[in-house]
Amino acid sequence: SEQEMYCVGCGVDIQTEDPKKLGYTPPSALEKEQIICQRCFRLKHYNEIQDVSLTDDDFLKILHGIGESDGLIVKIVDIFDFNGSWISGLQRFVGNNDVLLIGNKVDLLPKSVKQNKVINWMKKEAKENGLKPIDVCLISAVKGQGVEDVAQIIDRYRNGKDVYVVGCTNVGKSTFINNILKQFSGEDNVITTSQYPGTTLDLIEIPLDDGSTLYDTPGIINHHQMAHYVDKRDLKIIMPKKEIKPKVFQLNEEQTLFFGGLSRFDYVSGGRRSFTCYIPSELHIHRTKLEKADKLYEDHAGEMLTPPRREQLDEFPELVAHSFTIKEPKIDVVFSGLGWVTINDPGAKIVAHAPKGVGVFVRPSLI
Ligand code: GDP
Repeated sequence: SEQEMYCVGCGVDIQTEDPKKLGYTPPSALEKEQIICQRCFRLKHYNEIQDVSLTDDDFLKILHGIGESDGLIVKIVDIFDFNGSWISGLQRFVGNNDVLLIGNKVDLLPKSVKQNKVINWMKKEAKENGLKPIDVCLISAVKGQGVEDVAQIIDRYRNGKDVYVVGCTNVGKSTFINNILKQFSGEDNVITTSQYPGTTLDLIEIPLDDGSTLYDTPGIINHHQMAHYVDKRDLKIIMPKKEIKPKVFQLNEEQTLFFGGLSRFDYVSGGRRSFTCYIPSELHIHRTKLEKADKLYEDHAGEMLTPPRREQLDEFPELVAHSFTIKEPKIDVVFSGLGWVTINDPGAKIVAHAPKGVGVFVRPSLI
């Protein structure tokens, strides 16, 4: 039966039901003498890493394994979705291992953003979440920006040890690994997967030139990610390909902005003023009066206020209100996985609404 089949590459249990889950193999491939999962197949034949997601339990097992190993942990987060791409279990498992924190998708930041401010903010957030990274770097895995530097930094910090790359789904981990491969694997430097079934379950091994190994771990699902609440067909709306362009809104007190139907920004009080929205340009911003906002959402979520789509409304989480009184100048109100609104002057009272579970927070402005 299928229960007794293992991938000769990575040793994972073979399954033929869910192409998105670990161990998937097309039923036709079961005829072969040596069964290899689709992930290892792609890796072997196309030098391409496929994104496979794991259940929380499986991931905890991997984290536990990493905690007991001696190596450098490279943790990738999406700088547009810091909360949604944080692995909350990680700090408990790292043991004595160093963690290098990498912020991806830097190509989406407006040019006016100071990268130093992003790095400082990431350091502060990491610390508040109980993690003290040895260093913080910014990259664009898609554009290759910073990847060469990071490769050198990894090589320096690993100090001859193995490397474990971890990250949530959608942070760009596959894109990063593929980019790293291009830089490191000359034609004869082929990636291998474990030849010993069961020993390195779920990890993909990339040999480094001194006999150490870089392990790619499957992406964990963070249930607080905005991306999970958006239909696949709409993902491109919230995951832009190009630099985010600011849009300025002059608002009177008691006016509201809807970001599609995904989030809502209420300006409660503080006099007429301007707000700068750094929100993906394909997401429609709808302005209305605060007193009409609840009814508007009730009547038009899933059509005028979309995404979510109408057929998703039943499962789409309710919007939860987070109130802030802004006391400092230049503050970003951040909607995790979406973008942010910059408020220049203190004294504004605002309410930010986001799907239940999705992070909303304020930080000193990046600009
Ligand atoms: P994984 O689930 O972590 O392996 O993420 P993927 O590598 O599959 O990337 C998830 C999405 O983010 C894809 O739509 C990528 O095109 C996009 N992406 C990955 N890296 C970058 C980046 O550096 N910049 C931008 N703008 N998008 C990226």
